[in-house]
Amino acid sequence: MRVPYITAWTGEVVPRPDVIRITGRVGEGIGYADENPVTDRRHEALWVRSGIAPGRGEPDFRHINSLRQKRAMRYDLCGVCGETVFGIREDERTLHLLGGDSPITEGETTTAPPVHPACAVDSVETCPPLRRGFAAALVEYTTLWGVAGVVFEPVTLAPLPCPGSRPGELEHVHVGGKRIRWTLANFTVHSLHGVTPVSLDELYAMAHSQLLMPGGEPVSVP
Ligand SMILES: [Zn+2]
Repeated sequence: MRVPYITAWTGEVVPRPDVIRITGRVGEGIGYADENPVTDRRHEALWVRSGIAPGRGEPDFRHINSLRQKRAMRYDLCGVCGETVFGIREDERTLHLLGGDSPITEGETTTAPPVHPACAVDSVETCPPLRRGFAAALVEYTTLWGVAGVVFEPVTLAPLPCPGSRPGELEHVHVGGKRIRWTLANFTVHSLHGVTPVSLDELYAMAHSQLLMPGGEPVSVP
């Protein structure tokens, strides 16, 4: 089974420093005692630390590597193979694939990077959560919306439960709001715009036409 580009590996786990209260450039928030302003902070949020060593140890399919997710979102890399998703459609729309039964809606926020059609087919055939239900859509453009992370209570520094979600689920926190300074971010969140839903048949057809292009990867398409 192919290990998706954004999947975490057990050899990438690094020590997690304690979160402390700091007074930064724009006010109070959370930080690390030995914070590196270049690697630990982005969009005003503090970021979890992560190693980057794909292939070291075992793939951990329950977790996503924070650094590769961030890179994939920033540069429009396929979440499955890690290559650019541009260059296969003249209209430059990107394909997005989300788990669950609900269709992708206009303006929806997500931590999932775009995917190639052939990689999407590979995923829906082999990834257990996606086999239980998925939605696909072509998207005209995406914008940075915020981060997904854990928000800390400013007085007690206790992690706050994510409203309306299951325990352990990450909260989507908007860039520009005050809460982002109290957020330990794991992932970049984009919003999806110009959304056109894609059916399973259309997904297979898109994957098939991608395979006819130079550089198309072999994948099991009926
Ligand atoms: Zn791909």
